Amino acid sequence: MAEEERTIMPGTACSLELDAGQSVDIIDVKGQQVADLVAFSLTNVDREWLSPTHTRSSLGRLKLRRLDPLLTNFRRMILKLVHDDVGVHDMTFASCDRQRYLLGYGIAEHPNCREALSRVLLPYGIPVHRIPDPINLFQNSTVDADGVIETIAPTSRAGDRLSLVATMNTLLAVAACPQDQSPCNGWAPTPIALRAPIGAFAP
Ligand SMILES: [Zn+2]
Repeated sequence: MAEEERTIMPGTACSLELDAGQSVDIIDVKGQQVADLVAFSLTNVDREWLSPTHTRSSLGRLKLRRLDPLLTNFRRMILKLVHDDVGVHDMTFASCDRQRYLLGYGIAEHPNCREALSRVLLPYGIPVHRIPDPINLFQNSTVDADGVIETIAPTSRAGDRLSLVATMNTLLAVAACPQDQSPCNGWAPTPIALRAPIGAFAP
C-alpha cells in the first residue's frame, strides 16, 4: 500500500485515521525523542480510547513487548505493537502540560504535549480536558524498589522505529514532546516522523 510521511516538530502533533488492518510507523528521527500517543475508537470517540491503565493491568507489567495488544478502556484491543527497535516505552507518566512547566520550572508559557494533542483532536470534538493518558513512546522511565518513578534519557537512536497496526477503525494522535527542562528528550527535543497509508493523515 502506498504510504506518505509526516514530520512533527517538538511541541506539535499530528492526527490520522487508520482502518482496521492498517498500520503506522513512528520514527525517532534523531534519537532520544519521546512521542506521546493517544488513540480512540473512530466510531466512538466519546466513549472508547486507548488506556495505558487497562493495558498495563491486563499485561501485568509496565513495559511493552513486541506483539503486545494495546487495550481500550473497555479492554478491547485497539492497536498491536508489531515492530519495535527500542523496547523502552512509558505507560506511567502523564503528558506534559501547561501546569507541568509552570509548577515544575516556573515557565508560564511552554509548548506542551497535551495542548498539541488537543489542537489536532478538537476537530473531532475532543477538548483539552478529555485528552486521555498517553503511552509515551521512546520515554525511558524507571521504577525503583520503593516505587519511586523517574524519567531518564531515552535509549532510542536515530532512525529507530516502531510499528502499530490498528485492530479497529482508529483515530490516532501523536505529539513530539517539547520537554527541554529534563533528560526526558536528552535535554534537546527533536522531530518525530510518522509513516502511514496515503489518505490516513488529517488534511
Ligand atoms: Zn511532552
